[in-house]
Amino acid sequence: MSNRVAFYPGTFDPMTLGHLDIMKRASRLCDKLIIAVAINRDKNPLFSLEERVEMVEHVVKPFRKRIDVEVLPFEGLLIHFVEKCGASMIVRGLRAVSDFEYEFQMAGMNDRLNPDIETVFLMADPQYQTIASRLVKEIARLGGDVSQFVTPEVATRLKEKYS
Ligand code: ADP
Repeated sequence: MSNRVAFYPGTFDPMTLGHLDIMKRASRLCDKLIIAVAINRDKNPLFSLEERVEMVEHVVKPFRKRIDVEVLPFEGLLIHFVEKCGASMIVRGLRAVSDFEYEFQMAGMNDRLNPDIETVFLMADPQYQTIASRLVKEIARLGGDVSQFVTPEVATRLKEKYS
């Protein structure tokens, strides 16, 4: 089990308590966790890549007491980046049935591209399972309280974006 590197990719626009819960769970399965923030120009993110990386960096400090954690921006074919990082598993979070179809296909295709890299699905604690970045942004945009969905730091950033 030594030197097990896990790779958790996402857009994190913005990072939510759901993402954080998945990171916590992933950190128990590996010796090194790479959190890869997708540039994802197609998705037209609200937060810049730098801001998204900063939001993740802000919460990973406690994990660094136990394991090595790297937060990296990434672009291009996921499997190439995973290989370059020397990771043996891709971590994805599963929420409802709606996530399943897409994740099932991605895991299957990535397995064909490199069968040595395993996709591992984790479920967040039930209280975080319904949180989605898209809805958090919508609530914040309409002036709602997002404090139960994101960290105080992210809530402040959302307020600033929509003020
Ligand atoms: P992507 O563009 O890769 O879907 P996201 O930032 O939306 O990026 O999500 C990254 C990963 O985190 C995905 O595997 C997603 O299913 C998972 N995830 C997001 N929110 C939650 C949540 N509330 N509970 C569990 N997993 C989640």
